[in-house]
Amino acid sequence: MAVLLGAIADDFTGATDLANTLVGQGMHAVQVIGVPGSPVDLGDAEAVVVALKSRTTPVANAVADSLAALAWLREQGAEQIFFKYCSTFDSTAEGNIGPVADALLDALDDDFALVCPAFPANDRSVYMGHLFVGGLLLEESSMKDHPLTPMRDSQLVRLMSAQSKKRVGLLPYPAVSAGVEATHVAIAGLRDEGVGYGIADALTDEDLLTLGAAAADHRLITGGSGLALGLPGNFRRRGLLGEPRPADLPDASGPALVLAGSCSQATRGQVAYAREHWPNLKLDVDRLAAGEPVAAEAIAWARTQAPATPLLVYASADPEEVAATQARHGRDRAGLLVEEAFGTIAQQLVEAGWRRLVVAGGETSGAVVSALGVRALRIGPEIDPGVPWTETLDDPHLALALKSGNFGARDFFVKALGMLD
Ligand code: ADP
Repeated sequence: MAVLLGAIADDFTGATDLANTLVGQGMHAVQVIGVPGSPVDLGDAEAVVVALKSRTTPVANAVADSLAALAWLREQGAEQIFFKYCSTFDSTAEGNIGPVADALLDALDDDFALVCPAFPANDRSVYMGHLFVGGLLLEESSMKDHPLTPMRDSQLVRLMSAQSKKRVGLLPYPAVSAGVEATHVAIAGLRDEGVGYGIADALTDEDLLTLGAAAADHRLITGGSGLALGLPGNFRRRGLLGEPRPADLPDASGPALVLAGSCSQATRGQVAYAREHWPNLKLDVDRLAAGEPVAAEAIAWARTQAPATPLLVYASADPEEVAATQARHGRDRAGLLVEEAFGTIAQQLVEAGWRRLVVAGGETSGAVVSALGVRALRIGPEIDPGVPWTETLDDPHLALALKSGNFGARDFFVKALGMLD
């Protein structure tokens, strides 16, 4: 079976979230970590998601990496391209989504794409171009205090206009809710006005299915993973995709480890819950910054614990503590120190035999999979909305769950590892 859909995701957990959505709609999906430098066996993958680390890198790097991913995906036969970003947009006025989308459209020789981060299953919706998170405007949600991308504007037309060279318009709710035909007409109207990006309102999965169907012939689609819900159906209607089949759980036995580098509200709740169940250790950022052997101590600590019990290592802290730490060490340096420590801990504990890993945080997951040298992941069944189990296609054979900061219920870590028992 040929690759039908090629996707470019601006971070690792976002890539997994998207692949998970496609698996849920019956596509076989593989996620590759960065653009492969040598051939990768994609098996029977019908969808391939390239996970980049381009959300907060300098614009020129994000554009170059995204164009390289596009070229590789087209070599694999992908006929439609999806540019995936976070359902909380995670991109300020200086951000990368606009420049990357501009470059992809140019390379695909097209001039229009949808923009829609809505993900109703996780309470993210777009109305009148405003992004809402759990009933609050984005700028009033906990995302306003994100360590790397503090979101202080909820109006996507304004944000995308600030980022992109193209005109930005609204694909309003009355058109989307009226169905595929009305959406087609509204998109044609935007194109006639010279609009390059249609910010699409969407409140329900039904709206996302409508948008997906309306974008069947778009070369580029941009959005959160929710917008991909309707895309497998387009291929199925054309007879290119078989009936849905359930995905298998990863098959990896060995000790289990949870690494939490996300400071998002959901992760802090999950850390608090897991601390009541498992041995746990908090990384001290001040000691990391002072060059003390924090990672080595965590590794030594893990090796003294009973192998049958999952372990939790975390750096997650509340906004006040994060702000104070950043004031002392700089935002980027603090983040990098913590990410490097998690990379080292993951790499050495896998070498010591750990085989089941849950990682919380997009940047943190990126750091961990790079440290482990993971190149490709087969996507398995879902744990909580947006987060599946995956398994590595290369050695060592690992079960990996990579969780974006704000995803998952309070018992997520315990539930995830419970599924493998
Ligand atoms: P999320 O998915 O919640 O955005 P990320 O891992 O992408 O999580 O981003 C969290 C960032 O915060 C990472 O760069 C991480 O290293 C950093 N970080 C984690 N703990 C702390 C802390 N205690 N102080 C400052 N920065 C931290």
